Amino acid sequence: MNFLEAEVPNFGKVIITHTCFETISRYRQLENMPETGGSLVGYLRSDDVWVIAKAMEPSPKNKAGRYWLQSCLGAAQRFVDMFFKQTDGALNYIGEWHTHPEEDPNPSPKDFKMMDDILINGKIATGFVFGLILGDTGKLCLWHQDRSSHWVTPIKVPPLFLPASF
Ligand SMILES: [Zn+2]
Repeated sequence: MNFLEAEVPNFGKVIITHTCFETISRYRQLENMPETGGSLVGYLRSDDVWVIAKAMEPSPKNKAGRYWLQSCLGAAQRFVDMFFKQTDGALNYIGEWHTHPEEDPNPSPKDFKMMDDILINGKIATGFVFGLILGDTGKLCLWHQDRSSHWVTPIKVPPLFLPASF
């Protein structure tokens, strides 16, 4: 298997590529490492499955502590623009990922608020966003949020999927 998947109720199937997970999984918050994160780009496949294709490497301009993160918006915009251009618009902004220093990661009230701000202020063509959070032992959760609701699920990561460094 070279992807992770989830079924969002009343929405449909979502796939997270191995490339995407590989990028994120390198930033587990071991010891005293700060939170980190970045944007996600993806696309709607012809069979109506949403694919979270690529995760942005954290910008060196991010500001963060153990329990907070302020992503560099300029760097995120450049990342999204680059993929949009390279793929003639096939890959577009689809959400955000970040880390948590906890075993079973879950979005905080601040995380829901951050996505609300993106939905309200950002120019989101889709009307919804995805979030991915990586816990400190490598567990992952996916959340789906639109203007009126959000839905969160843990994602099963098979051992074979994990990088050799785990
Ligand atoms: Zn968070």
